Amino acid sequence: MNPELQALLIVQQDDEVIRAIETRRDALSPRLAVLDKARQRAADEVTRNEAALERELTKHRALEARIVEHRLRLEKNTEVLNNAQKVKEVTAASAQVEAARKLLADEESESQAVSRRIVDLRTAVAAHRDVLERTTAEQVAARGALAGELAVIDAEIAVARAKRDTSSVGVGRSLLSKYDRVQTRRRTTVVFQLHEDFSCGSCDTAIPLQRRLPMSTGALIEPCEGCGCLLYFIPTPPAAAQG
Ligand SMILES: [Zn+2]
Repeated sequence: MNPELQALLIVQQDDEVIRAIETRRDALSPRLAVLDKARQRAADEVTRNEAALERELTKHRALEARIVEHRLRLEKNTEVLNNAQKVKEVTAASAQVEAARKLLADEESESQAVSRRIVDLRTAVAAHRDVLERTTAEQVAARGALAGELAVIDAEIAVARAKRDTSSVGVGRSLLSKYDRVQTRRRTTVVFQLHEDFSCGSCDTAIPLQRRLPMSTGALIEPCEGCGCLLYFIPTPPAAAQG
């Protein structure tokens, strides 16, 4: 067998080994994703409640400022009422006092409602922070185990890649880049032996007549016109041909 082909077939085996290890590494991703998702959910709840708390606090500050202002107005209106002499003035002033009182009462009751929501939200924020902390703590072991597995697999990949680098020394640059192009895309076996009738070992497309003679020497490794896989021919040894 032509030595370049031999080297290429070994590279192909090495790549298969690498892909198998990479598949094991990819299988770890869903486990990591589950952990990330659980922690993210807990973190999102903290953020959501913190934001709600912030909104209620802002609302409360604004209400309190309005209440201070409206208390002053009520005092002023009451003073006007107390100083009113004529019936008409008394009527107008007492209507204003009444309106101011009503407004103030509404705002005070709203402020109380907001205060209650603030208390609830503070409790919720604390509870969700606890959950987040607990989730993070609970995940330490699982994440450690995953990281350990990942480190082992990465070390295996490094070894396998180094072996592949060594194997590929025997393959010419042009053939290797042709092989890499197909292999990287398909991530599977891409070098096939031609059948005896010169049909592709992968897709069975027959190679054109004019290419058969040059291929038959076994020196060429060329792509299939049907599937793009790299094809080679193993010539029948002379002894067998005679027999
Ligand atoms: Zn083919």
